[in-house]
Amino acid sequence: MYRDKTKEITIGSVVIGGGNKVAIQSMTNTKTEDIRATVKQIIELEDAGCDIVRVAVPTAEAARAIGEIKKEIHIPLVADIHFDHKLAIQSVEYGADKIRINPGNIGSKERLQKVVEACKARKVPIRVGVNSGSLEKELIEKYGHPTVEALVESAVNQCKAIEELGYDNLVVSIKSSDVDTSIEAYTLAAKTLPYPLHLGITEAGTSWAGTIKSSVGLGALLAAGLGDTIRVSLTENPIEEVKVAKQILKSLGMIKSGVDIIACPTCGRTEIDLIGIAKEVESRIADMNKTIKVAVMGCVVNGPGEAKEADIGLAGGKGVGIIFKKGQLLRKVPEADLIEA
Ligand code: SF4
Repeated sequence: MYRDKTKEITIGSVVIGGGNKVAIQSMTNTKTEDIRATVKQIIELEDAGCDIVRVAVPTAEAARAIGEIKKEIHIPLVADIHFDHKLAIQSVEYGADKIRINPGNIGSKERLQKVVEACKARKVPIRVGVNSGSLEKELIEKYGHPTVEALVESAVNQCKAIEELGYDNLVVSIKSSDVDTSIEAYTLAAKTLPYPLHLGITEAGTSWAGTIKSSVGLGALLAAGLGDTIRVSLTENPIEEVKVAKQILKSLGMIKSGVDIIACPTCGRTEIDLIGIAKEVESRIADMNKTIKVAVMGCVVNGPGEAKEADIGLAGGKGVGIIFKKGQLLRKVPEADLIEA
C-alpha cells in the first residue's frame, strides 16, 4: 500500500515516518505519580501490542516518576505537557523519549526556546499537538470556529516557531472530535508539512461510537497513505484502544500477523447457534500467538467456500458443522462439540 514519505523521526527505539511501519500508541489513565500502577498498565499495553506509550505530566512529581517508570518498561515513553514549560524540561531530563506539547499554551517564546533547547540536547522529538478544543484565540477570531484551515494554520505556525529555534525533530497531530474535519485537516497538513503525522480522532467516545469514529477517520487516512502513528481514543481501558488500533491496521493489511476471524452475519438459513459459536471461537483464539485465518460460517451457501479459503474453518448445517483445514474437509462434528473441535 502507498505510504506518504514523511521525515523519519526516532522516538527511543521506534522510528516513525519515512514509510516505516505505522506505530500504535496509547495513553495511560493511571496517575503518573503512581509509579507502580502506571508501570503495570504500560506492561499490559506492551503485551497488547502498543508500540509507544504516553503519560500525562501535570506535576513535578509526575515528571520525576518518568525516570523510575522508564526503568521498568520496554517501549518508548512520551510525556504529555500543557501550560508549564518547566514540566516539559523536567520530563526530558528524566528520560522521556518524546514530549507532546501545544506550543500555543506553553507560554512565551523564551519558554518555548528553553523547552526546545532541552529537547535538542537529548535529541528528543516534539509532537506539536493541535486540538480543536484549544485553538489559539487569534485563529478562532480569524476563522470563526476551528475550521480545517484554522487547525492546519495553527500546526504550521507552531512548527515554524520551533523551526525558527533551529529544531525540526517534529511530529504533528491535528485532532478534532469531528471525523470529517479530521480527515480534511490531516490531508491538508500532509500537503503542507514534511513531518510524520500522529493520527487520532480526539474525544471519540465510548467503545462503540469511538471505535466506529476512529475506524472511519483513521481508516480513510491510512488507506490514502497518510499517518505514521495512530492513537485510538476511547472512554475505556486503554488496552481496548490498542486492540482497536491493531484491528484497523489488520483490516488494511498493514499488520499481517495474528488471528483473523471471518464470520457470516447469519440469516434465515442458519440452523446452528452461529453467533454464540463465533463469539466463543473469537474469545478463545484472540490471544493465540499464531498467524491464522479462521472462518466461522452459518451454512452451505457461502460457508464451505469461505471455510475452505481459511486456514481452518467451519460451516454449519442442521445441528452439525463441517470442519475444513486449508481447503480439505476434515470431519463432520455435532453442534455441541464444534467449538472444542
Ligand atoms: S453463510 Fe449461510 S447462514 Fe451465513 S449469512 Fe450466508 S447464507 Fe446465511
